[in-house]
Amino acid sequence: AVLDPRSAPTVRPGQGPLLPLVGADTTVPLATGGDVRYADLDTAASTRALAVVADRVTEVLPLYASVHRGAGYLSQVSTALYESARGAVAGFVGARADDVCVVTRHTTDALNLLAGAVPPGARVLVLDSEHHADLLPWQRRGPVTVLPVQDTVTATLGVLAAELAAGRYALLAVTGASNVTGEALPLGEVVALAHAAGTRVAVDGAQLVPHRSFSLADTGADWVAFSGHKLYAPFGAGALVGRRDWLDAAPAHLAGGGAVTEVALTDVAWARAPHRHEGGSPNVLGAVALAEACGALAGLPAGVLERHERELRARLVEGLAALPGVRVLRIWPDSAEPTGVVSFTVAGADPGLIAAYLSAEHGIGVRDGRFCAHPLLARLGVPEGALRASVGVGTTRADADRLLAALDAFCTTGP
Ligand code: PLP
Repeated sequence: AVLDPRSAPTVRPGQGPLLPLVGADTTVPLATGGDVRYADLDTAASTRALAVVADRVTEVLPLYASVHRGAGYLSQVSTALYESARGAVAGFVGARADDVCVVTRHTTDALNLLAGAVPPGARVLVLDSEHHADLLPWQRRGPVTVLPVQDTVTATLGVLAAELAAGRYALLAVTGASNVTGEALPLGEVVALAHAAGTRVAVDGAQLVPHRSFSLADTGADWVAFSGHKLYAPFGAGALVGRRDWLDAAPAHLAGGGAVTEVALTDVAWARAPHRHEGGSPNVLGAVALAEACGALAGLPAGVLERHERELRARLVEGLAALPGVRVLRIWPDSAEPTGVVSFTVAGADPGLIAAYLSAEHGIGVRDGRFCAHPLLARLGVPEGALRASVGVGTTRADADRLLAALDAFCTTGP
């Protein structure tokens, strides 16, 4: 039966799925013969879509037409759907009245857009714990300073404060939650330190926004970037939400139709944001799907999502700690409760081999490798990579227990 996402969940957090996902019962073949229900413990990479999102896409598909371009009825409907989705996405991340929401392809696109909007010559500060999407756009643009994280949150805040105090930075780009450990610096404190030094803050919200409630207005952060495909919507839409001024002054992210108000062969009048950065035909279905997913998460009773993921993470960490040779990676032992992302290594075992074994023999999906965070993996002393299990609204206690049992078998008897 399909649960109504806006009613109280009928399951206890940490036990069953909080919201139904498309394909939750998908079975996969085992190398040893037979099929088994897929245990998806790779939600930090991409999530499957919520059932309500799929329903909404099916509903809107017959109405699909060109946005901001046609006079026809369906073009008008599509334009209204697109703009109302934009508003819903902005609302989901607590946008201020004068903030702008640019519909992008994903977080990488959003952060590249913002990198192109940093005023010329202005310096950016970033930590070495970032996902490549929050490192490479700044490095390529330059000038950038990459600050090494320290062994504790307190020490990291100390070096960050000292670096910011020099007053050299226009922007600090920081993750809202690490895709490797789920950890984060206390965002309110980081924003206060940065703003006191005249530095704006961009939050890489890819791993935060789908798992914790987040508000630009409450945190004071200047921008947030995130991806629909990590937020129970299909691939293809993400967002950059935040301050208008830099976005209005920046070169268009993509030059083309829709980004302009007037074009002559020698002169172009560019539109204001968000349209300035949405050259080409807008992704109406992607925006509608993302907005629907945002609405479903926002409709969960306060605290339920966080509790669900906290309990699953605690179960994983407790079970992993009991296995011989397993090390759970942490950047900062004194950080606040991480999101439901747990990376770990098994002494003497190749992460790729274990991931293949989990898939082939147990039908369990995890991530292995360096998680697009090579500098952080090197800092954590595992340059060769690790394994990562991650949870979400569709993850059950049984999924976590299956992973732990399979790893126990691996550690005891080998693949
Ligand atoms: N930032 C973080 C923290 C991520 O985990 C990811 C994806 O794994 C990204 C950015 C990039 O997201 P996307 O590939 O959707 O652009």
